[in-house]
Amino acid sequence: MIIVLLGAPGAGKGTLAGALKEQLGVHHISTGDLIRAEIKAGTAIGLEIKRYVESGALVPDEVVTRMIELRIAATARDGKGYMFDGFPRTSAQAVELDKILSRNTLKIDFALFMEASVDIVIQRLTGRRVCRACGALFHLKNMPSKKPGVCDACGGELYQRADDNEETIKKRMTVYNESTMPIVDHYRLQGKLKMVNADGGAEQVRVALLKILNEVNEKKS
Ligand code: AMP
Repeated sequence: MIIVLLGAPGAGKGTLAGALKEQLGVHHISTGDLIRAEIKAGTAIGLEIKRYVESGALVPDEVVTRMIELRIAATARDGKGYMFDGFPRTSAQAVELDKILSRNTLKIDFALFMEASVDIVIQRLTGRRVCRACGALFHLKNMPSKKPGVCDACGGELYQRADDNEETIKKRMTVYNESTMPIVDHYRLQGKLKMVNADGGAEQVRVALLKILNEVNEKKS
């Protein structure tokens, strides 16, 4: 199964993928995670793209698309499928993803558009905490860790992402509306768009996605 998760920053894409990747047995590919790993490792690419991420802008399409291409080339043959989280984020990336998959004789099953209100995503992003060691996601109010500042899964230290501050969040929302929203039509035109209301929280969206998966699987068989 190949699924694209679409939605504003804070819509819950990472939380949903975290909750379902093992159950579905798919590769979870988050370009945000790949980019942060490059920056943390201080690679040449990491140094080049840090300023985009810190200001809430998008990293250039060629850089992100190349990262995806390498991941897909390394895993396409295992047949596990993918859950793309935070990619594609521009129309050019959506077109490239179709081409990369097609070169590997694969195609997207559906894109899940997780619709969430602005107030809710801002509240989610400002309270979000991430494990430095394993990347698990928490929220100060909605999903607090058992021990403050410590990851429930691995005991790692929880931190607040540098771009989860109000000023950068506003910029990310503008970028989302201008560059990412148009790709909803890319999938609508392909008849692959599924919508879910993501205001209600992780469990509600997880159940909705499983229902959609059943329907898609039934159509396939
Ligand atoms: P995320 O973790 O998905 O919220 O992404 C964090 C930041 O990484 C974004 O604000 C962008 O600067 C960058 N980024 C992540 N995915 C992409 C992408 N597909 N295209 C361009 N930039 C991206």
